[in-house]
Amino acid sequence: MSEKVYPVPQDWAARALIDEAAYRDMYDRSIKDPEGFWAEQGKRLDWIKPYTKVKNVSFAPGKVSIKWFEDGTLNLSVNCIDRHLATRGDQVAFIWEGDDPKDDAKITYRQLHTEVCRMANVLKAQGVKKGDRVTIYMPMIPEATYAMLACARIGAVHSVVFGGFSPDSLAGRIEDCGSTCLITADEGLRAGKKVPLKANADAALAKSPLVTSVIVVKRTGAAVSMTEGRDLWYHEAVKNVSDNCPPEEMSAEDPLFILYTSGSTGKPKGVLHTTGGYLVYVSMTFQYVFDYQDAEIFWCTADVGWVTGHSYVVYGPLACGATSLLFEGVPNYPSVSRVWEVIDKHGVSIFYTAPTALRALMQAGDEPVKKTSRKSLRLLGSVGEPINPEAWEWYHRVVGEDRCPIVDTWWQTETGGILIAPFPGATALKPGSATRPFFGVQPKIVDAEGEVLEGACEGNLILTDSWPGQMRTVYGDHQRFMETYFSTYPNAYFTGDGCRRDDDGYYWITGRVDDVINVSGHRMGTAEVESSLVAHSKVSEAAVVGYPHSIKGQGIYAYVTLMAGEEPSEELRKELVQWVRKDIGPIASPDLIQFAPSLPKTRSGKIMRRILRKIAEDEYGSLGDTSTLSDPGVVDDLIANRQNKR
Ligand code: ATP
Ligand code: MG
Repeated sequence: MSEKVYPVPQDWAARALIDEAAYRDMYDRSIKDPEGFWAEQGKRLDWIKPYTKVKNVSFAPGKVSIKWFEDGTLNLSVNCIDRHLATRGDQVAFIWEGDDPKDDAKITYRQLHTEVCRMANVLKAQGVKKGDRVTIYMPMIPEATYAMLACARIGAVHSVVFGGFSPDSLAGRIEDCGSTCLITADEGLRAGKKVPLKANADAALAKSPLVTSVIVVKRTGAAVSMTEGRDLWYHEAVKNVSDNCPPEEMSAEDPLFILYTSGSTGKPKGVLHTTGGYLVYVSMTFQYVFDYQDAEIFWCTADVGWVTGHSYVVYGPLACGATSLLFEGVPNYPSVSRVWEVIDKHGVSIFYTAPTALRALMQAGDEPVKKTSRKSLRLLGSVGEPINPEAWEWYHRVVGEDRCPIVDTWWQTETGGILIAPFPGATALKPGSATRPFFGVQPKIVDAEGEVLEGACEGNLILTDSWPGQMRTVYGDHQRFMETYFSTYPNAYFTGDGCRRDDDGYYWITGRVDDVINVSGHRMGTAEVESSLVAHSKVSEAAVVGYPHSIKGQGIYAYVTLMAGEEPSEELRKELVQWVRKDIGPIASPDLIQFAPSLPKTRSGKIMRRILRKIAEDEYGSLGDTSTLSDPGVVDDLIANRQNKR
């Protein structure tokens, strides 16, 4: 891994919300006196009844229970909207950028208030009450955010299902949480192509008759079938409701949403987040990690179907009174310059995206970036996977013109918000490292036996204490929650991720624990080998897994996608093996390399290594849950071209 260090730029240290002294002081306090620290931070919200209890948490085996601010009451939509009206009613809350560059819109906080109240009243008219589950299956249009906030206003629990999911996946998620109401659209629009959302919903509902009301937002105007007595058009229903909806008083621990994990390691889990602690945590991490300053335009490219969209497109930014950009399209449509053009068009200052998108954009070369200005940018962010130093350097040099720090943010659906990330005004950066813990976060690294390791070390990442944004349970299955996260290491939350800590106390996520391989007794994160392969000029993407090897225990199997125009060959295979050997060492040199036109990915763009592992292990009879794959066809090609030589 690269050990290059990028110091905090001087102007950043001078003006950022958190400098090094503030980081150290606040971090110390958050660990020594969590009650006092969070009692103070909780005040960033408007409470109806203030809390007197701050933290009530047990990680004890069989008795896991997590509560924050439990006797306080509040309404989340009031904190995201109403309380800003007096000072920033006319400020833009959402900039919407459509799939077609000609389509855009601006929604002020005042307009947002009206729209959310209306949607809330439509839900109420459909009989939706506090505690009911509402599934949202929408394109990235403003109504998706209205739907989320409307649920929060009346105390309903939303479950957003990414619009790219199939009818089966949608039906499974509706059933799992027992939704009776579904909010969808006629069609979605992505890269000029229509996504038949309502037709998919109809197919899903044929399998789960639980849903008694379907609210359909008109996006493209396509003809869709409407079931009498069950389906209604939103634009018609909204004519009959008031612009005002009194907010429901919610307890801090009332459920806010259920969200299913991306499924890269197995069957998706219904992660449950509650109201008060979650909002305190996402608003605080948003403000400090992105160093958000008044009136700046923040753009997180995630879909609201993922936790990143929940926490950093909608809730974190709105809780801070920010302007957040909502993007309907994809990064390479109509051209590979789209992202950079959108940044110029709207004057985006902070841009937050995923390594997979960056690698795809990087493949198109520097020209599509350089022909845009990007003058407005001051900070860049990354989330979703370890970012390989090669992509990091490109992001920094080409996109940010060496001027913008990069915050590599490590977190999970389960954690609600960012747990490990740099503070741009305090933390020197190392490409590929998520750096240091956020306030209140206590990462520890343990070996397979659960022994806590000190100093520079490598092992499994656990968290020994709670933070307010932590998930509370797996919906409807607290036992599964305890087994999944709290049984591997007693009295600690197990992240499932492997991690290395260096001499400076920086954390480097090495991938899922399952992706850590043991070659001739040498433990190594697959991310390290992947980074090395991707650093080769002919390689666009790489995924590395272990497979049973008679001598080494585990051998290294690498799937490699080449840059456009490059041809696979035996010479290149040898060249790549030599390359990794020279870069990391002989122990890391791949035993088998399979050239693959593309890799299996989840809908959120993560490589599904568990499928690659099965193929490498020659066990493709049992690939497990593939329902969240974005293109199942990729798998057949991989199986057909599997490397057999042992
Ligand atoms: P599932 O739990 O169903 O397998 P998932 O883990 O892919 O799905 P998410 O909660 O969206 O679903 O992803 C969290 C995981 O993504 C983390 O556990 C980690 O492996 C990876 N990750 C996220 N951000 C980073 C980052 N900045 N650096 C390294 N890894 C990251
Ligand atoms: Mg996970």
